[in-house]
Amino acid sequence: MGQRLARRERERGGRLYHQQRAEEAVEKWNHSLTKLRDPRDRFQVSGDLCRALCELGKSREALEHAGHQCGLATEIGEPAMLAEAHLNMALCNVRSCEFSKAVSYCRSAMQHQPEGGAITGYLHLCLGDAFMGLSELQKAWSNYMRAHAMAHNLADRVLEVQVHASMSHIYSALNDHDSAIACCHAAQQLSEDVGKQRVPPEVAGAVTRFRRRLATIIARPYRKIGRYNEAMDYCEDAMKVALLHGDRPVQAECLFSFADIHRKRCDMERAQPRYESAYSIMTEIADRLGQSRVLGGLAKVAATTGQHDKAIELNEKALAIAQKIGNKMEMLRCHARLQVLYDVKGDATLTHRHESVLRQLCDEMDLFCGVCDDVMGSTPEKVEPLQCGHFIHGRCVQHLARSTLGRSGRPRPCPACRRHASQNPLQAPDVMALT
Ligand SMILES: [Zn+2]
Ligand SMILES: [Zn+2]
Repeated sequence: MGQRLARRERERGGRLYHQQRAEEAVEKWNHSLTKLRDPRDRFQVSGDLCRALCELGKSREALEHAGHQCGLATEIGEPAMLAEAHLNMALCNVRSCEFSKAVSYCRSAMQHQPEGGAITGYLHLCLGDAFMGLSELQKAWSNYMRAHAMAHNLADRVLEVQVHASMSHIYSALNDHDSAIACCHAAQQLSEDVGKQRVPPEVAGAVTRFRRRLATIIARPYRKIGRYNEAMDYCEDAMKVALLHGDRPVQAECLFSFADIHRKRCDMERAQPRYESAYSIMTEIADRLGQSRVLGGLAKVAATTGQHDKAIELNEKALAIAQKIGNKMEMLRCHARLQVLYDVKGDATLTHRHESVLRQLCDEMDLFCGVCDDVMGSTPEKVEPLQCGHFIHGRCVQHLARSTLGRSGRPRPCPACRRHASQNPLQAPDVMALT
């Protein structure tokens, strides 16, 4: 096959991809990759393959292409290419729950890419997601804010939709479901606006692809506030499309959502097999955070049906996975469930052990409101982000306004930041620490 034909095949792959035919696109791109000789052509196709495979849940294969891109970028010696290759490495690592590795790749990509460059916004989004995976909420939020600013500056709708969805994860983690829903609705509105406008096919394609994932994200807060019918509707629609397009990650999330809704409705016979199907897809796509969450759901089923030993065993298994990937929020949830289970069993020693780990995790995650010092997210309520990325209770905002105005009338930094600063008097506010 000549080079021109191979390039045309790559373009055909692109068109298929924008039409939501990712599996066929991958086939075309794989074929053109065996023919293309120019390193820049090979770099582009590998990048296309990497992103498409990530979305299909094939993060291991995607990682190979990102690695190939790294090699080509080094060979060509162009910093912008190396930045893109490292961003793709980071994306694959977020997908396979290697969050610390993802942070490292994002940082090295930032060194090759000047702040304000075309992929900077996506780097901050990916870094935010990586920090979210490590339950470092303040750093995650700060990076989402930067990605959001970049999306606005560049009028990049695809990025903006994704940033809003990621922000909703933070609100969900902090038990502020109304704000989580508001973020998702903002993302939905944006994606509908894009659908009405004349946009390039790659933009329309990307937004359409993301919309089914967004449906699974919005279902989460709806489930939490008991609006099961709406959550079910969102996931049923998303599931149909995901089955049509071979989107395994969305299928897994939908099954997990269905299982949770059945469990909340006390229909354990329906919940159990759906959790099991979700678990097997999450194993297939290497989503260990998902596996841990599903095991948590199965543990709740066991606890509800009086199988306490089985519930303990499942929670221990979920905990081991959460520890391995370093997701403290999920670890906290496991310890909280184990504490209750051991309390029911009357084992005071283990109850206290889990309780003390819980307190330690809250400390490590900086989960205390800087104003009232209560744990954030222990009950559902409104929370507000501060400029530094710390969150406080919505009800504490008025007190903060009073306490942070210095004698000059100028606002002082947030109480949590002040406390950290006084603990470490040598540590100056460090912007790089947020990245
Ligand atoms: Zn508070
Ligand atoms: Zn702060």
